[in-house]
Amino acid sequence: MYKISLKKKINSIFTAKKSREEIFEELEELLILSDVSAERAVTLLDRIRKKARLGFEKEDFIALLKAELSDIFHPPDDRDNRSFCSEVRLPDEKNVILVVGVNGSGKTTTAAKLAVYFRGQGKKVLLSAADTFRAAGSSQLSLWGERLNIPVIGGDRGADPGSVVYNSLNSLKSRDHDLLIVDTAGRVQTKDNLMKELEKLTRVIQKFYPSQPAEIFLVIDATMGQNTLDQARRFSQFSGITGIILAKVDGTAKGGTVINIMDEMKIPVKFVGTGESEADLAAFSADEFLDSLLGD
Ligand code: GDP
Repeated sequence: MYKISLKKKINSIFTAKKSREEIFEELEELLILSDVSAERAVTLLDRIRKKARLGFEKEDFIALLKAELSDIFHPPDDRDNRSFCSEVRLPDEKNVILVVGVNGSGKTTTAAKLAVYFRGQGKKVLLSAADTFRAAGSSQLSLWGERLNIPVIGGDRGADPGSVVYNSLNSLKSRDHDLLIVDTAGRVQTKDNLMKELEKLTRVIQKFYPSQPAEIFLVIDATMGQNTLDQARRFSQFSGITGIILAKVDGTAKGGTVINIMDEMKIPVKFVGTGESEADLAAFSADEFLDSLLGD
């Protein structure tokens, strides 16, 4: 699933006779070229340098790097080591999922993919098009709904997203459905407004179901390289995010993005988007990711 491997490149760094410093310089370059942020690459290698014995070999480096990355993949709030799981499950009750992210990140497509994923687990899914800010926001999700045979509750352009979500929750409550997935607006006039909007939606949801939303997923476009952190930081004021979905990992051969995001946000990556169709969503497994990054 991940087309990234650093193993060959690490091997080539360790081939010729080089000083320890030359090796570390080349390793730093390799991490940065793989989209790990420069600051993070330096910190990671400093920690490894301190632990590496004199005359260390590539196997030592790979083991040390793997240990450092494993630490990054265990954010403090990842109580059940869920970033190491290969399936995401929801509690056995009516659930609500909010999908947030900047426009163009792949948010609407991801909402549709999530609907298919959880339908595969037996959930009866309802979609809510609360992205009323954009002209095409609502209709795009409706098209997905028709294609997937999943009902979509929408609103006209400019309608209050809170009222769309309210109507959707009423449907969730009265109908024989058990999961509502809400596609939210990726842009309002200012960042503060965006956060207020998301907080408002959360409050509306909690009036119906105090323990919901079960998940708030932040969708991030993996092809944006170093800029993915800017996308993540836009939402850092909004404390409710429970997981990250990295969309478009099929469009990048670099793994640094996952490392940056997990290290910066301390929030687990839960899914990766691997293409444009509804089936192109996979639960993220840190084990698989590390194996493909550092395995043969
Ligand atoms: P939104 O503006 O954030 O709602 O983004 P959209 O869902 O409209 O997606 C923007 C573009 O990215 C569309 O052309 C999607 O088909 C595409 N896209 C979304 N997810 C993926 C993915 O995982 N892989 C690829 N290759 N394209 C994707």
